[in-house]
Amino acid sequence: MRHSLKGADIPQETLDKLSEQASKKWPEPWVSATLHAIHTRNLLGIPIKEYMPDNLVKERIALIGDAAHVPAPITASGFNTSLQDAVELGKCVAKGVKGDAAVRALAKYESLRLNKVQRMVQSGKSFSYSYGRS
Ligand SMILES: Cc1cc2nc3c(=O)[nH]c(=O)nc-3n(C[C@H](O)[C@H](O)[C@H](O)COP(=O)(O)OP(=O)(O)OC[C@H]3O[C@@H](n4cnc5c(N)ncnc54)[C@H](O)[C@@H]3O)c2cc1C
Repeated sequence: MRHSLKGADIPQETLDKLSEQASKKWPEPWVSATLHAIHTRNLLGIPIKEYMPDNLVKERIALIGDAAHVPAPITASGFNTSLQDAVELGKCVAKGVKGDAAVRALAKYESLRLNKVQRMVQSGKSFSYSYGRS
């Protein structure tokens, strides 16, 4: 996955599948608007990538931001959550990271953030399912 696709660059086969799915899943007036956008290629293909983390820390290494978790763009929360990771990590290591203090500080960071970021990724998945994604 490298970038979004403009309508002109989306393969016809993909557009045909989208038309078929839209016709089955969407009621009027949305289906007409969707089919019009597909037929005139007036749409963007934005890849949706999600990553649900099982952990954020291993020994003396901690991950923040998209390196640690990737929600669907529809959540509009990836950047904000990434900043919150950085703030919490900063607080956890503020008293120093010499010796075992580093491991304790990072474990604290993970305990503060893991559930929250998992919920964020899950919210994007739930939103996608509500739109009929199998
Ligand atoms: C379509 C879309 C819409 C979004 N809309 C929103 C929104 O409305 N609100 C919101 O809060 N979030 C939104 N996000 C999410 C948000 O953009 C990300 O969560 C945020 O940018 C993550 O920040 P980051 O610093 O962790 O990673 P990034 O922003 O990806 O930064 C990582 C940086 O590391 C660089 N890099 C990679 N590899 C190397 C290397 N080997 N050496 C040196 N540098 C390297 C990259 O070039 C990049 O500049 C959206 C994302 C997408 C894809």
